[in-house]
Amino acid sequence: TIGMVAIDSYGDMAAGTSTNGAKFKIPGRIGDSPIPGAGAYVDNEVGGAAATGDGDVMIRFLPSYVAVDEMRRGAMPEDAARIAIKKIAAYYPDFMGAVIALTKSGLHGAACHGLKKFPYVVQDDTRKTCEVIEVPCEKKC
Ligand code: ASP
Repeated sequence: TIGMVAIDSYGDMAAGTSTNGAKFKIPGRIGDSPIPGAGAYVDNEVGGAAATGDGDVMIRFLPSYVAVDEMRRGAMPEDAARIAIKKIAAYYPDFMGAVIALTKSGLHGAACHGLKKFPYVVQDDTRKTCEVIEVPCEKKC
């Protein structure tokens, strides 16, 4: 999955995902990526999030919605993403995936599970080029 969360020059936000599926295109499978709240979610007053990983598991937990809702309650983006990931890992300890999160004010973060680390890319008007940020992943519960 390629997941993106963006803020435009008016302060409006959008999120989206593009995926080739869990293991390429399986006819009839929808997966998490096109489902609002699962693959991606934005609340223009709060922030946005996008998810990647085992979509058949993630679709049951709406991790992008959970991350945005946590930010609404005041969580920093990396904590919001971690809470969303932990809710999944509590039921699926072998789950592999990641959530990126961005607040309306431009703070960003990510959390992941089942991998060693997860890279995400940031670009804003304070940088000449994009920056790759790597976060360490949660270990198995
Ligand atoms: N989440 C995607 C899916 O299950 C796969 C991915 O993130 O690579 O369709």
